[in-house]
Amino acid sequence: MTSTQPPLHALGVAALAAALREKRVSATETAQHFLARARSHQSLGAFVAIDEAATLAQAHAADARIAAGTAGPLEGVPLAHKDIFVTRDFPTTAGSRMLVGYRSPFDATVVTRLAEAGAVTLGKLNCDEFAMGSANENSAVAPVGFGAPAPVRNPWDTARIPGGSSGGSAVAVAARLVPAATGTDTGGSIRQPASFCGITGIKPTYGRASRYGMVAFASSLDQAGPMAHSAEDCALLLSTMCGPDPDRDSTSLDMPSEDFSRTLNDPLDGLRIGIPKEFFGGGLAPDVRGAVDAALGEYEKLGARLVPISLPRTELSIPVYYIIAPAEASSNLSRFDGVKFGHRARDFTDLEDMYKKTRAEGFGDEVKRRIMTGAYVLSHGYYDAYYLQAQKIRRMIADDFQRAFQDCDLIAGPVAPTVAWKLGEHGSDPLADYLADIFTLPASLAGLPGMSIPAGFGAGGMPVGLQLIGNYFAEARLLNAAHRFQQATDFHLQQPQGAQP
Ligand code: GLN
Repeated sequence: MTSTQPPLHALGVAALAAALREKRVSATETAQHFLARARSHQSLGAFVAIDEAATLAQAHAADARIAAGTAGPLEGVPLAHKDIFVTRDFPTTAGSRMLVGYRSPFDATVVTRLAEAGAVTLGKLNCDEFAMGSANENSAVAPVGFGAPAPVRNPWDTARIPGGSSGGSAVAVAARLVPAATGTDTGGSIRQPASFCGITGIKPTYGRASRYGMVAFASSLDQAGPMAHSAEDCALLLSTMCGPDPDRDSTSLDMPSEDFSRTLNDPLDGLRIGIPKEFFGGGLAPDVRGAVDAALGEYEKLGARLVPISLPRTELSIPVYYIIAPAEASSNLSRFDGVKFGHRARDFTDLEDMYKKTRAEGFGDEVKRRIMTGAYVLSHGYYDAYYLQAQKIRRMIADDFQRAFQDCDLIAGPVAPTVAWKLGEHGSDPLADYLADIFTLPASLAGLPGMSIPAGFGAGGMPVGLQLIGNYFAEARLLNAAHRFQQATDFHLQQPQGAQP
């Protein structure tokens, strides 16, 4: 590319894919450009694995397909994956000491599908241990360039957290170290870091993307999705990521993927946007409220109508989620026993001692807290009082949404009550993190698709996201509403200080 053109990292997925297809730049040059950028920004702590040789081998293969005229829709586009997706070409840790040194013999389905479309893997991205967290402060893994675990820094203010658990993904995209990344969302882990880092992210309907090869946290909630600059780019990636995977994930839905780009430009006239009053109560910081209100005003200008609705059990989503997710986690994480996977304690006396020491050494504090909570709520005598009760309320939360969707087409509100907080600000108080999940948990518990789009700036000049929630399979509608907003605003084009060369 000539110097009068924008640098490669200024391009989104769609523009970069076009440049590659039209041979204005090669996949190898593109990979080299982004690898250099990842290295020069490694103080942000976003990457936990980079392997230039592996990336360049994929890029050469992409160039060969472009030359042969067999290029896929994402041919040569560099992507990085949250380190919760297993990959053959890169190690996988899930942010845990338990898996340091682990190499999967296969790729996650989402990784395979993106690779089949031509994407080149730039590396693996930091995340909270087993995706448990809201600030990426729970990772036990050293980022590339660090000798010990170090926080992932928000490029808008490097003294602040990026959000979590897909914090590395959000930072890599926001700082333009990669045009897009994968993330996973169990209770908000795509939407909240996207909001905190000023990027766009979508979690599809539960079951639309295969969970095969995603290190399991809470299986009835975990869902993969793309994180990028624009709804247009997310649509492109999501079309590739979704679709049934009957042989490998029995909970993947028998629902073909769609071309989510097709309806991006549909007009929004008459769109009814439900505004849940519970999302605008006293807990919402005034700066976030200001940005969200202004964004809703923009939607009215685009022809949408705001409809007051109620999601009466919003507050209950916190205890319900923090019973169900740990319950499932305690079961999922039982596989890490020192026999089948990962770390094994060096010194032990007998089998039981080996289990105990392996798990004591391998898991971090938050993971242990969840395993203990989960084992407790599932135990004989407490099961009815906690787990069963939580399941009943989960169903009521899903029913509340269906009632609301009788009066509206989409639901909008804040993603989080505040902008990104300072590193260490929540200290050792896990409840402070849990409470901040209040607006993302309801859609997760109901299995609904949700997204975050940049909607303005709040305290400290930090990005504020607008959350859009759709009914089941309304991804195309969500992306359409997000795209029209992005055609009318430029919040998604703003660049953080930490992303400058
Ligand atoms: N913050 C929530 C938790 O800690 C959600 C995490 C996620 O979506 N993976 O469980």
